Amino acid sequence: MDAVDALNEIAFWLERELAPTFKIQAFRKAAGIIGALDPDEVAARARNGRLKSMKGIGDRTFEVIRQAVDGGVPEYLEGLRQRGQQPLAKGGAELRSALRGDLHSHSDWSDGGSPIELMADAARTLGRDYLALTDHSPNLKIANGLSAERLTEQLDVVAGINHDDGSGFRLLAGIEVDILENGTLDQSPDMLDRLDIVVASVHSKLRSDRRTMTDRMLGAISDPHTNVLGHCTGRLLQGSRGTRPQSEFDAQRVFAACAEQGVAVEINSRPERQDPPGELIQLALAAGCLFSIDSDAHAPGQLDFLQYGAERAAANGVPTERIVTTWPLDRLLEWSGRGK
Ligand SMILES: [Zn+2]
Ligand SMILES: [Zn+2]
Repeated sequence: MDAVDALNEIAFWLERELAPTFKIQAFRKAAGIIGALDPDEVAARARNGRLKSMKGIGDRTFEVIRQAVDGGVPEYLEGLRQRGQQPLAKGGAELRSALRGDLHSHSDWSDGGSPIELMADAARTLGRDYLALTDHSPNLKIANGLSAERLTEQLDVVAGINHDDGSGFRLLAGIEVDILENGTLDQSPDMLDRLDIVVASVHSKLRSDRRTMTDRMLGAISDPHTNVLGHCTGRLLQGSRGTRPQSEFDAQRVFAACAEQGVAVEINSRPERQDPPGELIQLALAAGCLFSIDSDAHAPGQLDFLQYGAERAAANGVPTERIVTTWPLDRLLEWSGRGK
């Protein structure tokens, strides 16, 4: 087995089961280190043990590389593959199999942990027809948000990936754009015009009063560039960032505006978000909204979080037809206003 593939696949399974970042990074880093070397050299150094003394190669990663070089599937990977046979979520299996894509993901260009290519590879392996790459906008400095210049550069990388790909899979150019305090979007209209998908999210002043937050969200929803309203309450239920209550806003008005503008309400699949909560999914359903089940993946293995979103959508009785990520690509792009 190819040692780089083995290390990356181990990282994928660990990401999927929310293993600690340092543990995952050890495998991603080792993959990067030996990926830069000649494979014969790697094999020779694995056999004579010299690889062990290289910076960034630990006992466990060395053992994985050695076993891969010897031609087998490393034991550690084998164990992870077996555990990975179990679905992440118990419910929503039927809806899960109807999902064709994902409109929210991050690469190492903003606050994700992996290169764009690895995100696209994983989405393709998971059987997605499309994945939107939606790195953050300039306002979110803490997440290394992309300036217009960097986003322009990224568009070329995305085009390159789609050019090389004969599989029918499509990486969509997108953005998770901050909804600024005045309700406008944190990127120029010209730049947003060039993208396939715009996810608009609130990331600051989450404790604003109800009226301020409602106006802010309505502003973003009325912008014709907005396709998806990301993690609308901002709540956090668990995880390393701690917990955070949901923002206060007039959900009736916000969802009515989404329904009117054809903006999809995101069902964010991240275990720590589970956003919006069930009551709000019900409200959005009654308002006639469309939905987008998204992973908000920051690493390849997290792309499989869609299972959690599917489980929650199914539990709340969201009809498949109302979920834009079950639509074929042509229909999706027509809806997003970027169809040919
Ligand atoms: Zn976000
Ligand atoms: Zn995000």
